[in-house]
Amino acid sequence: MPSFDVAVIGLGALGSATAAALAGRGVSVVGLEQFELGHDRGASHDTSRIIRHSYHTQSYVALSKQAYADWVMLEESSGASLVTTTGGVDLFPPGAAIPMIDYTTAMDTEDIAYDVLDADEVTARWAALRPPPGTAALYQAETGIVPAARGTTVMQRLATVRGATLHRQTPVTGLRPDTTGIQVVTPGGTLSVGSVVVTADAWVEPLLRPLGIRLGLTVTEEQVSYFAPPQPGQFAVDAFPVWIWMDDPSYYGFPMYGEATVKAAQDCGGPVVTAEDRSGQPDRRLLAGLSGFLAGLVPGSGPPVRSRRCLYTLTPDRDFVLGPVPGEPRIVVGLGAGHGFKFAPTFGRLLADLALGGLPGPELHPFRLDRRALVDAAYATSWLV
Ligand SMILES: Cc1cc2nc3c(=O)[nH]c(=O)nc-3n(C[C@H](O)[C@H](O)[C@H](O)COP(=O)(O)OP(=O)(O)OC[C@H]3O[C@@H](n4cnc5c(N)ncnc54)[C@H](O)[C@@H]3O)c2cc1C
Repeated sequence: MPSFDVAVIGLGALGSATAAALAGRGVSVVGLEQFELGHDRGASHDTSRIIRHSYHTQSYVALSKQAYADWVMLEESSGASLVTTTGGVDLFPPGAAIPMIDYTTAMDTEDIAYDVLDADEVTARWAALRPPPGTAALYQAETGIVPAARGTTVMQRLATVRGATLHRQTPVTGLRPDTTGIQVVTPGGTLSVGSVVVTADAWVEPLLRPLGIRLGLTVTEEQVSYFAPPQPGQFAVDAFPVWIWMDDPSYYGFPMYGEATVKAAQDCGGPVVTAEDRSGQPDRRLLAGLSGFLAGLVPGSGPPVRSRRCLYTLTPDRDFVLGPVPGEPRIVVGLGAGHGFKFAPTFGRLLADLALGGLPGPELHPFRLDRRALVDAAYATSWLV
C-alpha cells in the first residue's frame, strides 16, 4: 500500500474538513471511510445544523468566532453558499435547568451582542412562537443554519480537488505506532503514514482502546422530525428564528429550510445504543413527546411528515475531544459530542495543525483526552448545555 503523510479515519463532517485542510497545505493525505461517502448511519447526514455564538462557556463562544470565519473561508474556497443567517432565540422558562447567566456571561466576555426579551416580546416578534409567561429569552442575530449532508459533500469535494485521496468502503481495523510512523490496518492491506487523525465518532473507542485510551462515551440514537405547517409563511427564514428550549428536557427547532416544513427535535432524547445496533427506524415515543411539546410552544407546526435518526456520541461532560493521544502525538482525535457540526471547518483546521506537529494551544485545553471527565469512571455525567 502507498504511504502518505497523514491518514484521516472517518469521512463525516469532521474528517472531511480535516482532509480538505491538510490537502490545502500540500501534504499527501488519505481519507478512509468504512461506508459510502454521504451515508446516513452516523452524525453528519440530513438537511440542517444550527450554527450559533450563544454558548454556555467563554471558550465555546471564542471558538464560535473562529467557526464563523472558517465557514466563510470554506464558502470562498468551494464557491458554495453554505451559511443561512436566521437569528436565534434561546428560551429559558421559569426555573430553567440551564442557567441563562452562563450564556450572557460567556457572550459578554467575548463581546457578542444579544437582546434580552420576555415572552410577550418573543410572540410579538415571531407570531408562531408562544413561550409561556415568565420565560426569558436571548436573541442573537447571527445564529443560522449550515447544511449537513451538502456541507459534508462540499468538504469532501474540496479535499479531492486539493489532491487528497478518499477511499470509501475501507474500514480501519487497527492502528500500530512504530518507529517509522503509524501502520494503519485495513482489510485490503496496511498503510504506513506519518500521522493519523481519528474522526470516527460513534465508532472511535475500538480504535483507541488498544492504545490504552478510554473516553467514557455514550452513543444515543436521536430523532429529528419534520412538520407541515398550515401557514408556512409564518415559518419563513425572515419570519421565524432558530429556537432552543433551555430546560430539561431540552428541545430545538428551525424555520423552513429548502422545503415547506419545519424541523424540530429533543436534544439527548434518544435511547442509548451502539453504532452497530442503532435501529434507524422512526421512534413513535420520541415523536409523541416532541409533538406534545410543540403543541404548546409552536402550535402552528402542523402534522408530522417524516422523522430521521442520527447518532450522538456524548462525552461525560458534553465537551469536545480535540487533541493528541497522550504519549502518542502522531495520533490526533476529534469528536463533536453531539454539537460539533457548526465547528467542522474549525475542527478541520485545528486537527490539521496537530497532525502536522503543531502543539495544542490554550483554547484546546478543555478538550484534551486526559481530562478528568474522560478518564475518571466516577465522573458525574452531564449532557445538558
Ligand atoms: C440529530 C442531530 C442533530 C444535531 N444538531 C447539531 C446542530 O444543530 N449543530 C451542530 O453544530 N451539531 C449538531 N449535531 C452534531 C453534529 O452533527 C456532529 O457532531 C457531527 O456531524 C459529527 O461529525 P463526525 O464527522 O465526527 O461524525 P460522523 O459523521 O458520524 O463521521 C464519522 C465517520 O467515521 C466513519 N468511521 C468510523 N469508524 C471507522 C473506521 N474504523 N474506519 C473507517 N471509517 C470509520 C463512519 O462511518 C463515519 O462516516 C447534531 C447531531 C445529530 C445526530
